[in-house]
Amino acid sequence: MELGAHQEKVEEFMARHDMDSELEFRILDLVSEVGEVAKDVTKSSDYGLSPEEMEVKKDEIGDVMFSLLAVANGFDISVEDALEAAMEKYERRIEERGDPGSGSR
Ligand SMILES: [Mg+2]
Repeated sequence: MELGAHQEKVEEFMARHDMDSELEFRILDLVSEVGEVAKDVTKSSDYGLSPEEMEVKKDEIGDVMFSLLAVANGFDISVEDALEAAMEKYERRIEERGDPGSGSR
């Protein structure tokens, strides 16, 4: 399934289950879910003391994906277009400077 199809699936799912929340709450939810990924990392690695033990549960990545697609839907942004644009930007930076970062490190 393509990313855009997943985006539509999330929209339909949220409509079917009356999950039509305000956009600001969707954004808070996204940040919260990203925090849960970080919590998996800190717990599994004993706060980075055992990096070889580091784990992230697949369902936490799924939560982040769901909430990100919900945010994109709220702004009417195509995640496929957004991802393509981001990768083109990184490609351009690598060609120009050999580094995909923003240069603000
Ligand atoms: Mg979660």
